[in-house]
Amino acid sequence: MQNITVLSGGMGGARFLQGLLHGITRGLLPGVAPDAVVTVVANTADDLWIHGLKVCPDLDTVMYTLGDGIDLERGWGRREETWSVKDELATYGVEPTWFGLGDRDIATHLVRTQMLDAGYPLSQVTEALCRRWLTPVHGDAVRLLPMSDDRVETHVAIADAAAPSGRRVVHFQEYWVRLRAEVPAEAVVVVGLDEATPGPGVIDAITDADLVVLPPSNPVVSVGTILGVPRVREALVATQAPVVGLSPIVGGSHVRGMANQLLSSLGVEVSAAGVGLHYGARANGGVLDAWLVDQVDAAEVERVAAAGLACRAVPLMMTDVDATAAMAAAAVDLAREQTRG
Ligand code: GDP
Ligand code: CA
Repeated sequence: MQNITVLSGGMGGARFLQGLLHGITRGLLPGVAPDAVVTVVANTADDLWIHGLKVCPDLDTVMYTLGDGIDLERGWGRREETWSVKDELATYGVEPTWFGLGDRDIATHLVRTQMLDAGYPLSQVTEALCRRWLTPVHGDAVRLLPMSDDRVETHVAIADAAAPSGRRVVHFQEYWVRLRAEVPAEAVVVVGLDEATPGPGVIDAITDADLVVLPPSNPVVSVGTILGVPRVREALVATQAPVVGLSPIVGGSHVRGMANQLLSSLGVEVSAAGVGLHYGARANGGVLDAWLVDQVDAAEVERVAAAGLACRAVPLMMTDVDATAAMAAAAVDLAREQTRG
């Protein structure tokens, strides 16, 4: 395998990618060339404009993680960050105060916003930012592509007794960061998704891949939004490459984040099997050939297999880069079995 394409959100996707790249360079992945190229199609529906800056949380989490600049403990933003600008803005009384922009991080958003203002599309801006972060570490072995250059934004409808309609719609970041996903999500609305065009290279990356991976990213607001970009789902259905996914749900709950709340709002069972069946088997109108669940969910393998998906239970906790590389190896292994057919 020479070309691997991964549809990624932020933290879960980025950690998986770290393990995948580790596995490739150490020769730990059966049948994967040591100079294989990984193309990351990243979710941009979390993006927001704040204090006049364009912020792309998932693109930046992938970029900082793979470029060795991430704050590992937080899982987002820059290591050795300071917060002077945030404090100054709060002292001015500038809203919103709930979204944390660190001083180092702000430089990234300034560069991005200036380039966008100058007329460059997000894909080219991302390429420029990656020349600092990815090229020195990975050379040409990793490409980071926004799912779309168009503005797409996930909004969440929540109950609000004070509103005339009884509900209120907030940006996904407000739901997650300010409200901490503690209020029930009644619906997820992805504004602009239906009209979005796939970013340059996105469809080809799926069509020309030797393997497509859905990492353990959020199935609703990360992978779900990428799949919702017109033509992306069709490209997955049509590609010659095997498509394999890894469950972000372990033992009936997300490992980190808010997948539980959002899956429930869609009426999807919060379990490893539930998410696998939600993606569905390509043979039955879905997008996957194979699905990995954690070993604690081994009892669900049979149910997934009955739906036409090759399924295996392996350790899926990304505790360190070796454990994560082993997950990537298991994904490659199961995918290769599908190709042999
Ligand atoms: P976000 O954009 O930062 O929310 O990141 P992603 O969408 O890429 O990933 C979030 C998902 O990663 C959550 O649903 C978590 O359950 C999942 N996740 C985080 N850590 C792990 C882990 O160690 N193992 C597994 N299987 N899933 C994980
Ligand atoms: Ca995200």
